[in-house]
Amino acid sequence: SDSHFPIPISPDDVDLSQHYPRYFPADKGEHGDGDGDAEAPRIRFADVGCGFGGLLVGLSPLFPDKLMIGMELRDKVTEYVKERVLALRASNPGQYDNISVVRTNSMKYIPNYFGKAQLSKMFFLFPDPHFKEKNHRRRVISMHLLDEYAYVMEAGGIIYTITDVEELGIWMRTCLEKHPLFEAVPEEEIKVDPVVKLLSSATEEGQKVARNGGQTFQAIFRRISLQEE
Ligand code: SAM
Repeated sequence: SDSHFPIPISPDDVDLSQHYPRYFPADKGEHGDGDGDAEAPRIRFADVGCGFGGLLVGLSPLFPDKLMIGMELRDKVTEYVKERVLALRASNPGQYDNISVVRTNSMKYIPNYFGKAQLSKMFFLFPDPHFKEKNHRRRVISMHLLDEYAYVMEAGGIIYTITDVEELGIWMRTCLEKHPLFEAVPEEEIKVDPVVKLLSSATEEGQKVARNGGQTFQAIFRRISLQEE
């Protein structure tokens, strides 16, 4: 249950030096990288329900200067991702320092981890479908949760969703279409976005679906800004 993992009281309470030691070396004050007036890096990408971490591993070399975090509810899976990242760092010095994972319930604690307009990308890859009507409230995309995601995302930021469950794909797309703070990313942009290829190829679930020749349903939306915000 939730009582078994620590919950930061606010985003400032998240100990980044634990997650990204190369960016926050203990002996260099607040943050690394020498010149004191550079802004401390912040987490910019979140992979929600990251599972075994394949997306983070795929994204890391594509965006070496962006800090990314996976959020995962299962303890053992989280531990596996931690070990995986440490092993990658050990065998590839200077790489994979920008990815990490935290065990948490993303449906409850997103605002504890990220501040307003902090994230430029959020990922929801092959989330659990929760088929029964009474369990729809457990889905990681809902109108209510989209309000939270909109809050932590910067204007122009992109939310990526993919599933092999058609009903869930329609549900996620419909929620995003209905929400006033998101608009669909045009097809031409989706085609040239290097991240999109990873959605189905990088994660363990995506690879399983591909092996079985399953169909996938994507919804990729941009956080827009409204004048009155
Ligand atoms: N995204 C990964 C992939 O594509 O391989 C994993 C997909 S798996 C079907 C869904 C994952 O979401 C599981 O690892 C599950 O433990 C995690 N999860 C479910 N509910 C969650 C929650 N409320 N907070 C964080 N993770 C959650």
